[in-house]
Amino acid sequence: MRIPLPKIRELAEALTSLFSRAYTNRYPFEKVVPPDGFRGCPRFHEDDCIGCLACYEVCPARAIAYEDDREKLTRTLTHRPDLCIFCQQCERACLTEKGIMLGKEFELAVTERKTNTSQSRKALVLCENCGAVIGCLDHLKFLAKKVGTLLYTNPTLLLARHDELQLLEKERGQASPHPRAGHLRFLCPSCRREMILKEQF
Ligand code: SF4
Ligand code: SF4
Repeated sequence: MRIPLPKIRELAEALTSLFSRAYTNRYPFEKVVPPDGFRGCPRFHEDDCIGCLACYEVCPARAIAYEDDREKLTRTLTHRPDLCIFCQQCERACLTEKGIMLGKEFELAVTERKTNTSQSRKALVLCENCGAVIGCLDHLKFLAKKVGTLLYTNPTLLLARHDELQLLEKERGQASPHPRAGHLRFLCPSCRREMILKEQF
C-alpha cells in the first residue's frame, strides 16, 4: 500500500515534535510570567491611596466596597477579586494614579469567595458641627496641595494642610482672640454656609 505524501509529512511532524521541546508552558510545574500590559488582579497600595472613592464610583462590577467607621474615624476600602472583571477602570480613575493598580497576578482560585481581598484604611474627618462625613484626611491634604494659594479661601483645606505641617495641635491648643476663630474648624459645606450666613445677617 502506498502512503500518501501529506500523511508522510504529518508523520514527520509528529516525530519531530515528539523529540523537541514543548512549545507551550508546562504550567503549573513551570512559573508563567504574563507579558507587560497584562490585566491581572488589582491591589490597593495604602500609602498612595487617599480614600477619595473615585475607584468605587467607576467600578462597573461593584468589586470595590467601602465602610466608614464613625467611632474609630476610619474609612476602609475593600477590593474583591471574585467580583472583579479586570477592566482597569479603577486604576484609570485613581486620583493619585497609584492607589489601586492592576498587577500580573492571575492565580486567584480560593475556597472562600470573600478571601484574598486587598484593603486600604484611611483616617476619616467628620464635620465638627453636625458629624457628617467630610472625607478622608489624606484626600483633604491632597486637595490642599493641588489648589495652591486658593487654599486660603477654604478653612477646611487650610486645617488639613496645617495638620500635615504639624501646626494644627499647636493652633488648637491656644484660645484665639480672633472673632472669626470659629471658622477654623472642620465643617461640612452645609454647616460652613450656615455659619457664614449667620455671621453676615
Ligand atoms: S478592574 Fe474593573 S471591575 Fe475590577 S475593581 Fe477595577 S474597576 Fe472594578
Ligand atoms: S486614591 Fe485611588 S485607590 Fe484610593 S480611593 Fe481614590 S481612586 Fe481609590
